[in-house]
Amino acid sequence: MKILILGGRFGGLQTAYDLRRYLKNKADIKIIEKNRYIYFRPALPHVGIGLERAEDLRIDLAQVLPDRGIGYIQGTVTKIDPERSLVEYSREGSGGYKEKYDFLVIALGAHLASELIAGFDKYGSSVCEADLAENMWKKLRDFKGGNITLGSAKFIQDTKNRPTNTPDRYAPIADSACEGPVFEMSIMLYDYFKARNMLDKVKMTVYSPGEYLSDLSRTSRSTVAAMYKGMNIELVDNFVVKEVTEKEVISEDGRRLPSDISFILPPYTGQKLVKDAGLGDDVGFVLTGTDMKSVKYDNVYAVGDVNALIVPKMAFLAVKTARIVAANIANRLGMSIPVEVYDPKIVCVADSPYGNYAVAVTDSTFYGGNVSEAIPSPANHLKKTLFTRYFLWSKGDLAMDKYLTSW
Ligand SMILES: Cc1cc2nc3c(=O)[nH]c(=O)nc-3n(C[C@H](O)[C@H](O)[C@H](O)COP(=O)(O)OP(=O)(O)OC[C@H]3O[C@@H](n4cnc5c(N)ncnc54)[C@H](O)[C@@H]3O)c2cc1C
Repeated sequence: MKILILGGRFGGLQTAYDLRRYLKNKADIKIIEKNRYIYFRPALPHVGIGLERAEDLRIDLAQVLPDRGIGYIQGTVTKIDPERSLVEYSREGSGGYKEKYDFLVIALGAHLASELIAGFDKYGSSVCEADLAENMWKKLRDFKGGNITLGSAKFIQDTKNRPTNTPDRYAPIADSACEGPVFEMSIMLYDYFKARNMLDKVKMTVYSPGEYLSDLSRTSRSTVAAMYKGMNIELVDNFVVKEVTEKEVISEDGRRLPSDISFILPPYTGQKLVKDAGLGDDVGFVLTGTDMKSVKYDNVYAVGDVNALIVPKMAFLAVKTARIVAANIANRLGMSIPVEVYDPKIVCVADSPYGNYAVAVTDSTFYGGNVSEAIPSPANHLKKTLFTRYFLWSKGDLAMDKYLTSW
């Protein structure tokens, strides 16, 4: 029995660890991941403000996976052939490698399409990956004052082909794929400048492609708006960024914001190879039901950001969907494992280490629920710090996450 997992960060890793626990030696479990080192993304903003080093936030898959009885191939997946249950990949530039599977779990994440923002390579800043976070810190370290803009680009979703067998409210259409990192960076930077007595030299503007933090309740949004007022941070809604220059960010409708450091969360979209395989919607997010099984192929599952159902794109949901998939596959192989119900909510912690506090958000209103909390406290800062250490200590095995839910 061969279970092949594509992508080895939150979703892929958790699926592999859970399956290994459930199935013991009853299956060959293998991950294909293009990067040998994977980084704990929720702490990359801390690299961007110089408080963490990227190399301290990484896991070496080549060492960790074989230690846990999970196969690891460092390779770039180039094609999925679900008709023949076959995946093709390349290694170190040469292609033609093939791997068969009985079950496939796609955990390739979203494609963060920074190439769609003109000038991003030269003038844009971000913290989505380790190299970007390190560059952000270099810019910030040398910054003597001026304008900083922060915002998310537009989320590229297929608005027609929607996940089926799923309550509509579980797969919402959203302006942004996830504005949490923008919110977190904004409060981090405010306290960073405050600690350096630079607040009078900096003008910060936060923009959103729609209404800022529209996946949170109205009450939480007004709380954030009031916070920003007190911090003198300007908030601009309906600003769909299309270009960044040395001194400005420019929206699709021609508005310009002065900007010396332009922090952009790139446009999220799906994976072309998912679309080419006929597994996805028109932009390459996999279409599944709430069991995370492909609506077309009985032996294909998708977890995390690559799944069209997962909105907003959050590691908390990637890990939750991984648990669902591992339990479903284990049951199909004769185990008896309780399967969690997919009942999404937004759970995240926006940290401000220089301010010694974090805002812990739990919100289900986006999905029609009535939970809405946004709690700032020093204890939440401690929680986020501990959660980072937990991820690194467990080598990305977040088995306790459902009890902690402290993202
Ligand atoms: C700056 C930032 C901060 C965040 N903070 C939080 C937070 O505090 N809490 C939270 O819940 N969420 C947070 N998120 C969201 C979270 O990081 C994502 O939801 C999460 O990474 C999704 O996990 P995933 O496994 O589905 O996909 P990914 O993490 O994107 O992993 C996909 C993996 O697939 C690999 N891959 C892609 N294509 C190929 C290919 N062709 N061949 C082989 N391998 C491939 C990639 O290298 C990657 O390792 C944050 C996001 C960002 C950008």
